[in-house]
Amino acid sequence: MLPLRRLHRGVKNLRRYSNVAPTTKLFIDGQFVESKTANWIDLHNPATNEVVTKVPLTTHDEMTAAVESCKNAYESWSKTTVLTRQQYMLKLQALLRRDIKKIAANITEEQGKTLPDAEGDVMRGIQVVDHSCAAGTLLQGESLQNVAKDMDIVSYKCPLGVTAGICPFNFPAMIPLWMFPLALITGNTMLLKPSERDPGATMLLMELLNEVGVPPGVVNVIHGTHDSVNFICDHEYIKAISFVGSDKAGKYIYERGARNGKRIQSNMGAKNHAIVLADADKDATINQIIGASMGAAGQRCMAISVCILVGESQKWIPDIVKKAKELKVNAGHEPGTDLGPVISSQAKQRIIDLVDAGIKQGAKCVLDGRNVKVEKYPNGYFVGPTILTDVKVDQDCYKEEIFGPVLSIMSADTLDDALKIINSNPYGNGTAIFTSSGSAARQFVHEVDAGQIGVNVPIPVPLPMFSFTGSRGSHHGDLHFYGKQGLNFYTQTKTITSLWRQGHAVTKASVSMPVQ
Ligand code: NAD
Repeated sequence: MLPLRRLHRGVKNLRRYSNVAPTTKLFIDGQFVESKTANWIDLHNPATNEVVTKVPLTTHDEMTAAVESCKNAYESWSKTTVLTRQQYMLKLQALLRRDIKKIAANITEEQGKTLPDAEGDVMRGIQVVDHSCAAGTLLQGESLQNVAKDMDIVSYKCPLGVTAGICPFNFPAMIPLWMFPLALITGNTMLLKPSERDPGATMLLMELLNEVGVPPGVVNVIHGTHDSVNFICDHEYIKAISFVGSDKAGKYIYERGARNGKRIQSNMGAKNHAIVLADADKDATINQIIGASMGAAGQRCMAISVCILVGESQKWIPDIVKKAKELKVNAGHEPGTDLGPVISSQAKQRIIDLVDAGIKQGAKCVLDGRNVKVEKYPNGYFVGPTILTDVKVDQDCYKEEIFGPVLSIMSADTLDDALKIINSNPYGNGTAIFTSSGSAARQFVHEVDAGQIGVNVPIPVPLPMFSFTGSRGSHHGDLHFYGKQGLNFYTQTKTITSLWRQGHAVTKASVSMPVQ
């Protein structure tokens, strides 16, 4: 017998793995099935570098079975009543709350973020489910009586058919929950492809769908990388694709899917700037900026990665560095950890390379986390809090999305100069200003060209009654995730014009367009 080793000491829902890692299953037609593929990806716990599961590169036959299952399920699922679908979401909402710690433990194990942050990951997804429970109101169309004599018009929001979701690694629960609850509540079925780097949370969500009693085939899950993405972009049954991830994949999927006539929403990378004016509440601002730049080891698309200090606030750099130094780097399941590891050794190396490049190009490293050591986890992919000052727009550390715990500090003389920097950056996901001046805040809100804006709020992610409205280089497509736009993405409008004459018949063929 091979020795067992214990992962996640001190965490509830302890799981034991043998040295032969278990496999991640496919979810086809309501069943968890072992892939017949010969090709597997080892998934490493980023804190320990141990293999925790093997993820299959789904075969073509398995992907075909999954999409056919979605198509078959659509026939009956699209005819269920809104109230029935709402009931499923209400039950799912309760089970997600019940299992939040179990899902969070899986996220920490596969993705690395801290347990409290992993719970936040699930909670932000639960809020989308909460909102989707109002489907009876949200899905109402429009109506107008007497648009002409005896004529009325009504419109309905109707499902599209089979939809697909392609997810990134950094929010293993939240992003699938941005996708399938809205797809389902609007009467669609969905083929999901979680990130091959941490599919475990999605699989736990599928267990919950089975427990809720959602019929087999309404959601199917395949795994893999390029081949599964190409399959989704090309398959005739799939009418719409929701994508969240990097620029390279997002642009590719947008173009390939659109060429095949699919509706696409593609959320991509970011470079989120915070402007700090000297009249801001100093302690609160520094705490918020450090939390927003270093939280989740900087692997959030809404992380503050650039801080522009305007005028006198440039004197705050030593205090910013002091605050960042206090953060504890450790495995995500260890109590008191502020920063867990980054997702992979390649991601760690890329972060280090970009910091190196920044320094070579003129930036100064005032806090260096490149060689951080975590004694208990010597094999983990840790990067400590890192701060670069004197960052300029032509340096690689500014031009690239670093996606690590690195805060780039820039300086500007005026708010106008700071606004110019932000508006010249190709991304438009999020931005924030810290100030006590209402007029400066108002100018910022009106003049900054980004989709999600915080005023004394560092990560202004809208709650699900609004939509996630990243703009410019951070989004391709017309309709955003969740909120009213999310519902519109997953529906098409059917407009019915009815004529019920009272008292007199149509007696003459009308060959001209009516003029009134
Ligand atoms: P990624 O693009 O590497 O992976 C996302 C998905 O695309 C995965 O399912 C992966 O299998 C697939 N994929 C990867 N490369 C591909 C390629 N060349 N062709 C086709 N498919 C490919 O992204 P990631 O590293 O998992 O996630 C981090 C990125 O996601 C960051 O850029 C981050 O800013 C972004 N993100 C954006 C948002 C947002 O809402 N704007 C939210 C979360 C993450």
